[in-house]
Amino acid sequence: MQEKGTISIHTENIFPIIKKFLYSDNEIFLRELVSNAVDATQKIKRLATLGQYTGELGDTTVEVSFDKDKKTITISDRGLGMTAEEIKKYINQIAFSGATEFVEKFKDAKDANEIIGKFGLGFYSAFMVAHTVEINSLSYQEGAEPAKWTCDGSTTFEIAEGSRTERGTDIVLHINEESEEFLDKWKLQGILDKYCKFLPVTIKFGTKTESVEDGEDEEGKKKWKSVEVDNIINTTSPIWTKSPSDLKDEDYLSFYKELYPMSEDPLFWIHLNVDYPFNLTGVLYFPKVKNDFDFQKNKIKLFSRQVFITDEVKDIVPEFLMLLHGVIDSPDIPLNVSRSFLQADGNVKKINNYITKKVADKLAELYKKDRKVYEEKWNDIGLFVKYGMISEEKFAEKGKDFVLLKNTKGEFYTLPEYKEKVQAIQKDKNDQTIYLYATDVNKQDAFIQSANKKDYDVLVMDSPIDSHFIQHLEGKEEKTQLKRVDADVVEKLIQKDDAFANLLSEEQSTKVKEIFEKAIDNKSYSVEIEGLNPEELPVTVTMDEFMRRMKDMAATGGGMGFYGSLPDSYKVAINGNHGVIDKILKAENQEEQTKLAKQAFDLALLAQGLLTGKDLTAFVQRSVGMI
Ligand code: ADP
Ligand code: MG
Repeated sequence: MQEKGTISIHTENIFPIIKKFLYSDNEIFLRELVSNAVDATQKIKRLATLGQYTGELGDTTVEVSFDKDKKTITISDRGLGMTAEEIKKYINQIAFSGATEFVEKFKDAKDANEIIGKFGLGFYSAFMVAHTVEINSLSYQEGAEPAKWTCDGSTTFEIAEGSRTERGTDIVLHINEESEEFLDKWKLQGILDKYCKFLPVTIKFGTKTESVEDGEDEEGKKKWKSVEVDNIINTTSPIWTKSPSDLKDEDYLSFYKELYPMSEDPLFWIHLNVDYPFNLTGVLYFPKVKNDFDFQKNKIKLFSRQVFITDEVKDIVPEFLMLLHGVIDSPDIPLNVSRSFLQADGNVKKINNYITKKVADKLAELYKKDRKVYEEKWNDIGLFVKYGMISEEKFAEKGKDFVLLKNTKGEFYTLPEYKEKVQAIQKDKNDQTIYLYATDVNKQDAFIQSANKKDYDVLVMDSPIDSHFIQHLEGKEEKTQLKRVDADVVEKLIQKDDAFANLLSEEQSTKVKEIFEKAIDNKSYSVEIEGLNPEELPVTVTMDEFMRRMKDMAATGGGMGFYGSLPDSYKVAINGNHGVIDKILKAENQEEQTKLAKQAFDLALLAQGLLTGKDLTAFVQRSVGMI
């Protein structure tokens, strides 16, 4: 029996297309062929379970091997095999649903996944690396003859009698010249580790040496010897395929270590398991995320039926959940279509919502279960929760029950608790509750102390996400405004009716303003005389909340180019009621007045860490002179 034929696609040139357009991803040929071998193995096992196959299953290990001299890579399975008829049916009629369509569409395809999935070209990805491919197969069916199919990458093939004596299939790739890099142990090992680590059928790739115990020597010490053992690539039942009730914390932790060997233990995890209206399993871990946004390196891995597909999960999980680590496995995610289609895909949206909800539920549960533990973890969780609330309306809805605010005393409050706490004292004359915050508790210490003296509470908002979170809060919390504690002098941060009157006369105020403007001599500082508590500092330097936010936004690329280009502009508030101002007015001459004013101003700068370099040196010298 020997037969020649033409592969039934209606164009001559499919192989050059495959080669050219899939080249960048060509390593996936191995993923495709090994998953076919695994599929065939699972099929025969299912047939056996159903009683439709009654022979011996035998050892069903899939074996990958290579021969450097013959320049071949072979994938062997003991699956259900194929008859010559089946090879013709399943292999030859590639993309029969639309070869013409294929040729039209390949132009727009961005990667190999797209083409392979859409047109069922899994097997043909072999031609990305092989000039000739052989199939040697023996079907499980009674009386089946072994069959051998050969194709040299043109559109003609050859089918002849095969030589296989055991049920199953060998796929032999004769590697082309440009792809000889694949004829390498470490290269192949790397690809198998990447894509096949969790496949459900045992995969063997050659052998490796291992040390095993070999009795004891005369002194009773253990002896070791090296032995050759099968080099098994995969864990066939990774934890996400198991039931959570069968798993212990150690199992989750050791799986995490297996995925990300260099990482610290995660904080906690969520086991995902849903089969309707879509099918999805997985385990997502909350890593210890520091403020430095270094979370990108350990990505969520996406699988389809335990075959690794990608770690580019953008569009499949909500953006804020990209902070998480772990695996998602779903046969329902259309991996093979374009990004824009993905965004519109109903399943993807449902998956998105499901994961968001699961994560929110988990956080709510942790919060309810043990508030104290939750607070201890807040430094790590906080960034994530805030990011989620800002970016996902659905998450914000739930997050308001478990997001925490931390004050400078290290106390934690939920949103309602905090409102309750500060409402009475921090309400201004317009019925707005003012939340005060510090972005740097050391630098802003003088202001924090002034605020605390008035029994105001100050929140800590020192992570990069906080400037956005502040805006989110203002949008959500009614009649609430947030102000950085140094946005104004304490008397004015929260404007009350019973403010202190300025005891200076108008003439005196003008004089003081002149003295300070002369002493400061810098356009970035505008001097204002105010009636403040005599207990407060004589001079305070502040930057308006609105101005500062605009500048901060411009600095972090918020697009406010105009504000970004503005010079710093500060307000210098002179406390007209302070004794020092009186002293300055009464100083014996103009020179002395300027000197005292400069000194008071420098002290204000010093309190905020704004006094540096030459100015600091001059201040120290002047101070020494004054002693
Ligand atoms: P898919 O796996 O998506 O069906 P492929 O192009 O990878 O597409 O394979 C085409 C078909 O060829 C498979 O559906 C299967 O019927 C058959 N096939 C491929 N490899 C094997 C194998 N190792 N054993 C048995 N049948 C196979
Ligand atoms: Mg396949």
